[in-house]
Amino acid sequence: MPEKLHCSFCGKSEKEIKKLAAGPAGIFICDECVHICHAIMQGEDPGLSRAFDPKTWPKERLLALLGPLNKTADAYREHLQTVVETLRAQDVSWGDIARRLGVSRQTAWERFG
Ligand SMILES: [Zn+2]
Repeated sequence: MPEKLHCSFCGKSEKEIKKLAAGPAGIFICDECVHICHAIMQGEDPGLSRAFDPKTWPKERLLALLGPLNKTADAYREHLQTVVETLRAQDVSWGDIARRLGVSRQTAWERFG
């Protein structure tokens, strides 16, 4: 049985929301969170973003999120690898990549080379 998709902002599953849009590397956002983001962009109550804080979510939602979140973390690491490989293909040096990552050139090369 395939796992349900979850909103990366509020943690709700696809069964709890009307619409879910996919972003890069396993990141999703639901229609409710798009509305909250829109309100924040309009300068409305920033307290709305509390919906994004997992400390405010019920235990059942947090437990249901563990598997999908772990997959998203793996997908995001692959996304980072793809970005580094793309930069290397564009002749960006390991030194420049390492500086942006905040690691040594050797560490960058060992991790992504
Ligand atoms: Zn959401």
